[in-house]
Amino acid sequence: MKYHKHQLFKCVLSLCAILCLLKVTAQNEMLNYTLLHVADSKRVSVKIEFDSVSTKDAYLMIPRSAPGTYEITEYPNFIEDVQAITTKGDTINGFRGRGSIFFFKEQVTINSLSYFVNIEHMENDLKGGFASSKMRTNYLGILGYSVFGTIPDLKNKPIQLTIKSDANWPIFSTLAPTEDFTSEATFSIEHFDMLADAQYLLGTDVQIYQVEDAEIPLVIAAYAEGYVDMMEIGRRALVSLNGLSNYFGYVPMPHYTVCYEFLIPKTKAHSYGFSMEHMNSMTVSTTMSSAITTFDPDPNINSMVHHMGHSWIPLRSYGKGYRPFDWEVAPIIETIWLNEGFIWYVMSIVTNKPETLTFFERVLEHSPEYIQRKSLRELSQLGSTQYSGDFNIGRNLFSRGALMAKEMDDNITKATNGKRTFKDALLGLLQWTQKEQRAFAYDEIEPIMSTAVGVDLSPIWSKWQGIITTKN
Ligand SMILES: [Zn+2]
Repeated sequence: MKYHKHQLFKCVLSLCAILCLLKVTAQNEMLNYTLLHVADSKRVSVKIEFDSVSTKDAYLMIPRSAPGTYEITEYPNFIEDVQAITTKGDTINGFRGRGSIFFFKEQVTINSLSYFVNIEHMENDLKGGFASSKMRTNYLGILGYSVFGTIPDLKNKPIQLTIKSDANWPIFSTLAPTEDFTSEATFSIEHFDMLADAQYLLGTDVQIYQVEDAEIPLVIAAYAEGYVDMMEIGRRALVSLNGLSNYFGYVPMPHYTVCYEFLIPKTKAHSYGFSMEHMNSMTVSTTMSSAITTFDPDPNINSMVHHMGHSWIPLRSYGKGYRPFDWEVAPIIETIWLNEGFIWYVMSIVTNKPETLTFFERVLEHSPEYIQRKSLRELSQLGSTQYSGDFNIGRNLFSRGALMAKEMDDNITKATNGKRTFKDALLGLLQWTQKEQRAFAYDEIEPIMSTAVGVDLSPIWSKWQGIITTKN
């Protein structure tokens, strides 16, 4: 065939258009996730569909840690029957590799993969209540990072998630909390980090209560193995949210969910009490002996304020390692004392309980010598994987952070005649992250805070970096 010049030009143009379209399509590639709950099964299935990837380099990554857990949690141990479908329609089997990796022996191009997560096995194995998803007769409570994996090269792509229950269980997610939840739900999600960060509650025993008169949609989602007073939980959540809103002067979350599990302990070996923070939610796994059943004029909301406060720091202002998060390794985080201690200090102000600072002082006084001789940074590095495993480390980290915050607050208030406080230093960190859109480096923290309040905080900063010993 012979082309005239202008025909050839047109042809080149169309080819360019097609290539551009392909490029845009590739950039906008969306991953389709489907989570299926089947009645009476101890497992859930997950299917991930995508354009295509080669198994030469691509693998399925299942998280082994999550921001704020500061530990290795072997979620890959509960993954079963990994399979992929090739672009030719063949099914191939996946194999467990080292760490977070599931790989395929054949070098082929695949466009979907699937696997099961054994929820019962997970809960039997992980003894800390905060770490595992749960399955009961009429309840399935899922922590995103405990069931969802990704192909690392595709982790920044947008996601369409569909959740189905063949038992027609209602489905709730912290991604879009609503009282009107249904048995099939679809969510559009920015990328894998947000999919993994959210919680998914299914079942006829899930109770949902939307708190009235809150600044943002504020929802309580609970599963309880006995009676609980949802309105009272909601009232406490509202007091917590209002206190934090008054302190910081704004609320950065578009909505917020407090997820509660009130459980009869699974076994004597299981422990409960640690809670976990997420971008727009918190999860509390506790026992029925701590059930909230009635109005209390002065309830202990310390933990609720603390975990909700994490939605400001560190979830929206953080040091290196915290975000973007390396799901496969439990990364080294040098600012755990800031993440935890600064927010415990904020809690003491919001709840008007300065006496909690005495507790932090006592923790330092009674800390074992192997903790005392660690610098702040070294202790935080240790805490990156052993925060609650050896809670001497966790307690010491947040106590040092809270007492540093207190000393800074006193100093700032005095130097500025009360015009500025520690809060302004925190707002400095939050505004810095908002502008820079990245984690702050360790050496950037003190200058950001000092600049924000117009007070040189470096002497206090330096003092707390070193070894803190109470022994003469
Ligand atoms: Zn915390």
